[in-house]
Amino acid sequence: MSLRRVSSLCALLLATAAPAASAQAAAASSDVATSYRAAADSLIRAATADSAAYRRLGRLVDTFGPRISGSASLEAAIDWILDLMKSDGLENVRGEPVMVPHWVRGAESADLVKPRAARLAMLGLGGSVATPKGGITAPVLVVSSLEELNARAADARGKIVLFDVPLTDYPVTRRVRTDGPSAAARAGAVACLIRSVASASIRSPHTGLTRYDSTVRKIPAAALSVEDAMMLHRFQDRGEPIVVTLKMSARTLPDARSRNVVAEIVGREKPDEVVVLGGHIDSWDVGQGAMDDGGGSVAAWEAVRLMHRLGLRPRRTVRVVLWTNEEGGGAGGLAYRDAHAAELPKHVLAMESDNGAFNPKGYVLAGTDSAAAVVQQVAGLLQPINATGVQRVDGSPAADITPLAEAGVATMEVDTDGSRYFWYHHSEGDTLDKLDPAELARCVAAMAVMAYVVADLPDPLPHSAATP
Ligand SMILES: [Zn+2]
Repeated sequence: MSLRRVSSLCALLLATAAPAASAQAAAASSDVATSYRAAADSLIRAATADSAAYRRLGRLVDTFGPRISGSASLEAAIDWILDLMKSDGLENVRGEPVMVPHWVRGAESADLVKPRAARLAMLGLGGSVATPKGGITAPVLVVSSLEELNARAADARGKIVLFDVPLTDYPVTRRVRTDGPSAAARAGAVACLIRSVASASIRSPHTGLTRYDSTVRKIPAAALSVEDAMMLHRFQDRGEPIVVTLKMSARTLPDARSRNVVAEIVGREKPDEVVVLGGHIDSWDVGQGAMDDGGGSVAAWEAVRLMHRLGLRPRRTVRVVLWTNEEGGGAGGLAYRDAHAAELPKHVLAMESDNGAFNPKGYVLAGTDSAAAVVQQVAGLLQPINATGVQRVDGSPAADITPLAEAGVATMEVDTDGSRYFWYHHSEGDTLDKLDPAELARCVAAMAVMAYVVADLPDPLPHSAATP
């Protein structure tokens, strides 16, 4: 998953400082360029010399497949990564324990009964309850928004409510997936379908987490392909009665043991000050979780492996973290914060790649103006791969580092070309071939240079005030 918006972020240009400040910034900028150009170039060269990251990602996703929280494949993938990190020569390699939700999809189907018999392309939503064994057969009410459901609540009783809402802005459209099922239940619906949250479709349904409001009945919830949702909407517009049979056997089992993967290069002067970089190692249970977020995880891991290989040991500790359970609710990010609470004042930056390891354009930062000025200078070192952009956002740019942002740590996401992200997101289409070896290599370079230089600068990046 990505927290980020599909369309525009609130971008702030940094070139508006007063003349004295900008002279100061120019001096500092040339300092960063002078001090770090050689190290940055060697990291960029090493990252882009071959397809090592892509080969490693291929080995990960082909061997273990998708890695949903609670699954044996996730834990086997974590074991494999921990072993390889040790043989890479990384330090303090460990799995930090996390208890995670354990939802299992089971067999499922959706069949159109009227106005004609047809199998629909569906995927149950993560966390959904099952239908009774024989399924739920009911008339369908199609609505175009949560607001339209509220306006037509009286029509929803006893029906299967279908939200046919096109993806516009992910955090906005996602609300239909998270809040729609309980909104439908409140109106008396017996099940809920949503149009897949996808920007393009070849009749491929896209899953994702739903959240039940504890004050209303839990009803089964699934995504239909964009095409099937639109067809049902057309039937309704023509006045043709629609009946669907939904069968789901999903179960929520007791919480399971998982781990955040952690490995380090210990800082040579200030080992207790930490730069974190990572991705999330769990995925949905369809496709291979290659884009979301195997690519981001491997990019961060490769960045640290290359620093080690090149003998670059920065002043501060560089720590790669592959969080578990991002998709199933973010238990890994919370567990990391809790396990490292005492260290958080000395976390100088937390960077995640969870927007697809596509061509990197730069960085998205949540932090103070002075942190942004430093980051802008470091980003200048990425000129050889054209990844020098710095956009700023309020709040955290990525889910797993949100608890760190709330503790005042400067947080960052690699800003990649997101134009294809929602074609594959949370679907069977999220497989290795959707990423490009050269683009992934440039993501490695972008993470490596930023993490290394921020970890080595004489002064730490400043913190923001913590938010409750
Ligand atoms: Zn993700």
